[in-house]
Amino acid sequence: MSHEEHVREAGLLVERLEQHFQRQETARPRDYFYVSEVSKCPRQIYYTMKGFSRPPLDGVTARKLAVGDDAHRRVAQALFSMGVVVAAEVPMPPDALFHGRADVIVSLNGKNYVVEVKTAHPYSYEQMASGPRGDHSLQLQLYLYHFGIPQGIILAENKATQELKEFLVELDRPQVERILEEFRNLREVIVEQGKLPPLPDKSGWEFNQCRYCPYVEPCGEDVTASAAPSPAKGRGRVQAAQSAQEEHTGASEGLFEDMN
Ligand code: SF4
Repeated sequence: MSHEEHVREAGLLVERLEQHFQRQETARPRDYFYVSEVSKCPRQIYYTMKGFSRPPLDGVTARKLAVGDDAHRRVAQALFSMGVVVAAEVPMPPDALFHGRADVIVSLNGKNYVVEVKTAHPYSYEQMASGPRGDHSLQLQLYLYHFGIPQGIILAENKATQELKEFLVELDRPQVERILEEFRNLREVIVEQGKLPPLPDKSGWEFNQCRYCPYVEPCGEDVTASAAPSPAKGRGRVQAAQSAQEEHTGASEGLFEDMN
């Protein structure tokens, strides 16, 4: 019997694994923002905060997020072994406009640094030749401001080659205050007034967020939470705000990280 006669498509595990990894996240409406949303389209934020439906997380995406989590753990463990970690998984103060957890705070040469670990598709990694992504810098800025630490590091790992790059970021207080003002206004529109934000000016976007947006349909029709069908009617049903994992990594960020 030839080799080919002994080998054929199995059809035993892949489908089972896909189903195992797929998940639909549960509803958790909220009145605050995640640090990972700092550069996100305000309308996307609205639809997420109001719990509009989004496609279930498919197996491939769930595994990509798991790879990112593994990289975070690997780097944090190494930093712990090196004896430089001051704290890990550090939450924002509970009353902050933004929620999120800084990956690690390290002490080097007598100074503390907030470290944000980012995994990047090779293309995104190459694009960081001259500097970190703007949204990554802004996220780190928010942590620096809230923890009162004047400097931080963005540590990027190439998902394909495990090469590392690092960028020193210094606190830009006026920039953070501008962001906080912008998001206080956005919270007023979304939470207090319950209004859909106007279509954003997309000229400053680092990539076309609409291309990967799960809310193209309601956005195109200016659907609001009060006009959305009830859960039993399907589209627009309230569910899946943000999971604990999204709070940490920004699932949307994780979802789209490979695509820009
Ligand atoms: S389709 Fe574009 S403008 Fe509309 S919510 Fe999504 S990202 Fe924002």
